[in-house]
Amino acid sequence: EETKVVIIGAGVSGLTLATFLQKSGVACVVLERRDRAYTETRQRAGVVDARAVQMFERWNMADRLLSGPVAQTIDYRLNGHSRIFEVAGEDGSPGRFCTQQMLIINLLQELIDNMAGDVRFEVTDVVIQNEEDQHPLVSYSDASGSHQIRCDYIIGCDGDRGVSRASIPQGILTRYSHEFGYAWLAALVEAPVTGNPIMGISDYGCVAQLPRGPHRSRYYLQCALSDGHEDWSDERLWNEIRLRLSDNAIENATVHDKFFVPLRSVVYAPMQYRNLFLAGDAAHLVPPASAKGMNLALFDIDILSKALLGAILDQDKTALENYSDTVLPHIWNYQDFSVWMTDMMHDAGDPGQHGTFRQMTARARLDNLFNSPTAARMHSEYQRGTN
Ligand code: FAD
Repeated sequence: EETKVVIIGAGVSGLTLATFLQKSGVACVVLERRDRAYTETRQRAGVVDARAVQMFERWNMADRLLSGPVAQTIDYRLNGHSRIFEVAGEDGSPGRFCTQQMLIINLLQELIDNMAGDVRFEVTDVVIQNEEDQHPLVSYSDASGSHQIRCDYIIGCDGDRGVSRASIPQGILTRYSHEFGYAWLAALVEAPVTGNPIMGISDYGCVAQLPRGPHRSRYYLQCALSDGHEDWSDERLWNEIRLRLSDNAIENATVHDKFFVPLRSVVYAPMQYRNLFLAGDAAHLVPPASAKGMNLALFDIDILSKALLGAILDQDKTALENYSDTVLPHIWNYQDFSVWMTDMMHDAGDPGQHGTFRQMTARARLDNLFNSPTAARMHSEYQRGTN
């Protein structure tokens, strides 16, 4: 079997790329280890930033794929004292509220149901052969047996633990990483954000509440790296939320899931090797405080889709050869933003973490967003993904 492009992973990055390629008439196959229902229910990110919205608008797909405009406000709440930051930006559309799972459902519908795209679910044993001066070969197994696909390009969109990056020989990639030394407990609850999305900082640790649909929200609570489910009963979760937001009126609600995310930042460079190109979490991870993981995956795909179309349709490989060099400065810029957000949220709160000196400087950094139009403008640009 032959195709132009094999994409490994049907997450945000893989499905967005496949949809753009399919729309451009380029044959591609997506290989996904999970079933369709599983990929449609995995709930993570909630906001498509303004830059990514503009990409979907250029493809004339924003209204079909994304929900309505997102609140352009953030309640930075320090020990119960609210200050509302307004995300400002004159250049085009605002970000859109769209849960990651809704984006996946819409992309699958567009790609498979409307455009007859080729997504193969529940595949196992994906193996990549990416030899010099040869067409790459991808083999995999499914319920009907083992298969091989020859192609021009392989795109690794299979997240941090996938096979694509792991197929690259030792010594080719450099791994840059930073461990923050604590974790966030992520809890999806049956209670909507009623006012503004909240980034809460307190002497007891930070807490964020972000919208995840009309009836739900995601709370994130700073916790120890060693914490697990046994440490966080639902009762403790709600008590800590009330304490950290200084709001005793918050009532317990159903908790749908709880999991623990160790905070770390990682970049692998370069993001390509021969005819294999990495995108999204396969190439970089950011801590959730910045809400940029999915948006950086979409940024990669914006650049990579144009580069692939140039190589395949116009026989011009320049942009593809420069893919990694084009993308990485943006990734590093947003890694810096993620570190800024994460450190500010943590250091300005619990003084036990890094001491009272760092607490005061972090609070000054937060104040600056409200006192300096220059700082506010820069923060807005990062929130919108446009700088
Ligand atoms: P994924 O979405 O992880 O997709 C990878 C796909 O590859 C999966 O479908 C997987 O099943 C498949 N796969 C893996 N291995 C194989 C294999 N061997 N063979 C075949 N298929 C394979 N980002 C934001 O922008 N905003 C947020 O608010 C936000 N919140 C988050 C909250 C949490 C709790 C978490 C965990 C992440 C959050 N993120 C957020 C990050 C965001 O979810 C990721 O950055 C995003 O999913 C990356 O997309 P991706 O397509 O690269 O990878």
